[in-house]
Amino acid sequence: MSTTPTHPAQPAPSGGTRLDPWFGAYAERAHGMRASEIRALFAVANRPEVVSLAGGMPYLEGLPLDTIADAMQRLVATRGTTALQYGSGQGAEELRERIIDIVRLEGIDCHPDDVVVTTGSQQALDLVTRIFIDPGDVVVAEAPSYVGALGVFRSYQADIVHVPLDEHGLIPEALEETLTRLAADGRRVKLLYTVPNFHNPAGVTMSLERRPRILEIAQRFGVLVIEDNPYGLLGFDGDPLPALRSLDDEGVLYLGSFSKTFAPGYRVGWVVAPHAVREKLVLASESAILCPSNASQLAIATYLETCDWQGQIKQFRELYRERRDAMIGALSEHLPSATWTVPDGGFYTWVKLPDGLDARSMLPRAVTARVAYVPGTAFYADGSGADHVRLSYCFPTPERIREGVRRFAGVVSAERDL
Ligand code: PMP
Repeated sequence: MSTTPTHPAQPAPSGGTRLDPWFGAYAERAHGMRASEIRALFAVANRPEVVSLAGGMPYLEGLPLDTIADAMQRLVATRGTTALQYGSGQGAEELRERIIDIVRLEGIDCHPDDVVVTTGSQQALDLVTRIFIDPGDVVVAEAPSYVGALGVFRSYQADIVHVPLDEHGLIPEALEETLTRLAADGRRVKLLYTVPNFHNPAGVTMSLERRPRILEIAQRFGVLVIEDNPYGLLGFDGDPLPALRSLDDEGVLYLGSFSKTFAPGYRVGWVVAPHAVREKLVLASESAILCPSNASQLAIATYLETCDWQGQIKQFRELYRERRDAMIGALSEHLPSATWTVPDGGFYTWVKLPDGLDARSMLPRAVTARVAYVPGTAFYADGSGADHVRLSYCFPTPERIREGVRRFAGVVSAERDL
């Protein structure tokens, strides 16, 4: 039986509207949920004639698909009743054992018991927020911040307070000042959200020198740090920097993901958490999804065991470096009136538009000119950021990137002449 009140004689629940008779029935937190600007863009950005510099999709053509298919086939043939069965709420032990080898590359020394597997790091963000945030609690987040994290914080009715970053990442002095002010105002700050490596959207990396300083400040104010690090192994030069979690076992929740270094379609990420927090995360995850997908986890464990995953990451790094070079080269050639960050890894550059331009109002004209980007406003909780755009170079080929930047520069210069 349908539960939707369609009969005209049936009154809408109080506060309902003609468009949504259940409007007045939603929980408070549902009213804070909004479609991300990126999702709204996908429909147009995916049209083949549009060069999309908007999305953050990894480029998967280089994956050894035949080898992966063979491994998957063998997995189902030999261990199908396990792979297709429910699994543990914390995640499959054989995958957690492999994850500790991966995080060791960033200096993290932990045990498989410290790891909770999640459905992508997006679910990790949701679980962490669910167990820590009451409505009105403050989450301090970099300005700008990953749009998907802002969406989660909003959906739990957190009050998001931004702290600026610069080309060396989150600014310690600004963090200290903000936390001091919030403490003086009697505000409860629970979480500090940071993407220290190859930031989404800013493209910058927190310097080695700032890492212990940020941790010291967070510790002094009793604020737990969420270190969201899906891009950490995708640096173009040198070794990965030590993770914040490698410098502090108790005050940091480290979020990792296979989405950018392998494949997002499996939807597998993880949290490295202190003991007590880990138990709460598992309880929260069990209530949300019972357990992460066993099939996905065992598929990834098989990939890590049978394929040269480190060689694959090296290939990805080279591919993305070439695309970063194409983008930065094209920006220098076509858009000298703007400034931008030059990322040392990851997927994004953050472009400051010439004075007076508004990234949001310019977007429809850009789409007409067959190029898409994400306006900076998506990455701020307070609606600022209209003077920036995020350009991503992960998915289009270098040739398409150059064409996309050329079109984008044309839109910017037409806008300046308006
Ligand atoms: N955090 C950041 C900074 C991201 O860029 C993304 C994906 N764009 C995520 C988390 C979510 O990744 P996933 O759920 O695929 O692991």
